Amino acid sequence: MTDLLQGFEFAGIPSRVVFGAGTLAQAGAEVERLGHKRALVLTTPGQADDGAALARALGDLTAGTFFDAAMHTPVEVTQDALAHFRAVGADCVVALGGGSTIGLGKAIALHTGADQVVIPTTYAGSEMTDILGQTDKGAKTTQRGPEIRPETVIYDVDLTLGLPAAMTVTSALNAVAHAVEGLYAPDGNPILSMMGVAGIRAIRDGLPALRDAPTDRDARADVLYGAWLCSTVLGHVSMALHHKLAHVLGGSFGLPHAETHAILLPHTAGFNAQATAAQLAPVAEMFGGSVGGGLWDFARDAGAPLRLQDLGLTKADLDRAAQIATQNPYHNPRPFDAADIRTLLQAAWEGTRPDP
Ligand code: NAD
Repeated sequence: MTDLLQGFEFAGIPSRVVFGAGTLAQAGAEVERLGHKRALVLTTPGQADDGAALARALGDLTAGTFFDAAMHTPVEVTQDALAHFRAVGADCVVALGGGSTIGLGKAIALHTGADQVVIPTTYAGSEMTDILGQTDKGAKTTQRGPEIRPETVIYDVDLTLGLPAAMTVTSALNAVAHAVEGLYAPDGNPILSMMGVAGIRAIRDGLPALRDAPTDRDARADVLYGAWLCSTVLGHVSMALHHKLAHVLGGSFGLPHAETHAILLPHTAGFNAQATAAQLAPVAEMFGGSVGGGLWDFARDAGAPLRLQDLGLTKADLDRAAQIATQNPYHNPRPFDAADIRTLLQAAWEGTRPDP
């Protein structure tokens, strides 16, 4: 929770949100509401059928489709998509998918100023943010800007019913990580802290049921609602050690996004909890009294991966990862040096339960 005497700033939440079940049917009305007539529909090859169905449902509002979105927004894919956007005379994008598809829509918006209607199908949380991560020749860079933030976000619980089990749990923990880091962010505020705590709680309540019943609509609704709240937090504050480490492991070692977040979270949150006991008290309360250990137990019970070594990171990579992660200074509530990070990474690599 923000220290009220230190003061805070809050400028509201700029994106329009439509949440519910069956809300995909409102996509056309939302395009028209923004004053547009020619949408480029985006998704990945794996979701091409859903993208094509959406394009058909939009009817005359569809100017074209582009189903080649890829992880970490490679600039060459963006160039192809931009060429298509211009060739079909599109005036907005409709992005249906996870963070990869949403990233492509943001990149098109950055270059063209196009409005975005975004329909997330994972819990990763890119949709409510003004952040774009792009890769060029293997190097990932991140930027923020108002033109990157989507104008309209449609959350449709029904689109998440088929999210594979592994992706469900890692993606939900990815969302929790945004809210945890938001609770101790120097630019946070009480409204965002409230949203973050509510987001974590909704995911804590909904996720366990999905292990045995992945199409439980009430549980899916809880987790998607939580993901929205956590994404909103991510979209308004700066992140710290957790997101830095995830960025390093993804960018420099090619580790998969959601799994890496899921494995790191108990270790980074447990590490920072020692300097942020008051801010993370609601998290400790929700997870059996301990931030790191409690999150680790929750992740294990939900079926999450627990060891970085299972993602292909070798023991020899740990020194270099610790060194890269401590090269440039950045805000973190608990001071650290390379040895601290090396110890943290070792524990995450082995999958040991953090204490506390
Ligand atoms: P993703 O978008 O790469 O999706 C992974 C795979 O799952 C894809 O093949 C996708 O088509 C498929 N998929 C997605 N939803 C599905 C569903 N409901 N059913 C079946 N398959 C489905 O994964 P992600 O974790 O959502 O996103 C990761 C990317 O998003 C990374 O590049 C990350 O950097 C970025 N990201 C950005 C931000 C931001 O604010 N800029 C925030 C979070 C994540």
